[in-house]
Amino acid sequence: MKTDDGAQDFLSNPQIIKNYSLLQDIGVFSHINQLNKEIKDCKNLLAGAVDIFNRTTIDEILDATVWKISDQFLPSFIVFLWKPLQNREDITIKSYRNYKMCDIGVTVPTIAPFVPFFRKFPKPIAFDMFTYQIKDSVKAEELTPLEKINPEILIPILGPSGLYGIVMVGRKMLEEGYNNEELFFLEQLMGFVSQAIQNHLHYEYSVRDVKTGLFNHGFFMTRLGEELARTKRGEEAASLMVMDVDKFKNFNDTYGHLAGDRVLECIAHTIKQAVRVEDVPSRFGGEEFTVLLPNTPRQTAWIVAERIRTSISAMQVPWEPPLPQVTISIGVVSFDLRAHAAADEIIRRADEALYQSKENGRNRTTVWGAGLLFRIQRKTGDTAPVMA
Ligand code: GH3
Ligand code: MG
Ligand code: MG
Repeated sequence: MKTDDGAQDFLSNPQIIKNYSLLQDIGVFSHINQLNKEIKDCKNLLAGAVDIFNRTTIDEILDATVWKISDQFLPSFIVFLWKPLQNREDITIKSYRNYKMCDIGVTVPTIAPFVPFFRKFPKPIAFDMFTYQIKDSVKAEELTPLEKINPEILIPILGPSGLYGIVMVGRKMLEEGYNNEELFFLEQLMGFVSQAIQNHLHYEYSVRDVKTGLFNHGFFMTRLGEELARTKRGEEAASLMVMDVDKFKNFNDTYGHLAGDRVLECIAHTIKQAVRVEDVPSRFGGEEFTVLLPNTPRQTAWIVAERIRTSISAMQVPWEPPLPQVTISIGVVSFDLRAHAAADEIIRRADEALYQSKENGRNRTTVWGAGLLFRIQRKTGDTAPVMA
């Protein structure tokens, strides 16, 4: 009898049947079983890697990782400790039970004390072993949050900039312990996860401003070009908002650059909260920001601009001693099929409207309009939207 691939079916071979127990005794069958299991694990790992690399946000990468680990081991829980910004120590914590996000009720302020250990030992490790090895080199209270979570194993997420995070996996629901092969599987899987996260971070760093987390100037210009092309095809109008912090030089001179930096971060946060996901809030440079609003006519853009302006003027910036309110001035321009303008000209128009807001006393919004109406607005200092 021949099998599909043409190989002799060994069970129908009398010679082999005769030697069956010999083969069993010398461990050929268990070796084949072992090899089959390893092939299955490799296929599993490969499928997991493809899935993880296809994800486009960190949350999606973490979700895919949770599914993979849960499918393979059915752990009682999985907790990710994750450093979203490499230049900050803040830790995001994401916990899962039965494939679903849950609240583990523990906060971990920092993973910095564990960096030297994972630099020396960049592998998954049993939690007991970890605490035993590290207890003399960290403060007891630094270990306490991890002890409260009490995982069975820890897996570092490592990359060129060091330790990005730690994955904590609870004990298995149905079996005892993680054997060496399983730890190896987790180590390999986390290798892919770190790589996917690094790809994502590199992309993010290339399009984002480090200080504020908003998009950077280059990304803004690219998206503005795309929106212009879209509106030139006759699609709905888009709008651009240019904002500038009022009298910010004085502010820095009085309260210092660090306080000024904190203000810029808070302004960025307020802008992000006020816009839709499809909008493009960016740091244009210095204390100037832009928001590109696709599919947004001028009247709506004005409403959004006023919402941002009033929110910023009411903003409480956490700082000691308390800081005075800051305000911004805004220029808005809308463009559609009839705009007949390149990106530079659109920015120039928004700047012109911004200048008008400054001229008229700051802390206000001006909408750009061509011709007479705009001139009238200039003269009267009217801040209502120009309906040219
Ligand atoms: P105006 O209302 O006319 O805009 O006055 P202004 O003082 O804001 O205008 P000016 O352009 O003279 O000053 C901008 C100031 O913004 C000067 C600079 O020190 C400050 N600035 C720019 N970038 C940063 C930054 O990243 N951090 C801090 N703290 N200040 C910045
Ligand atoms: Mg400025
Ligand atoms: Mg300014």
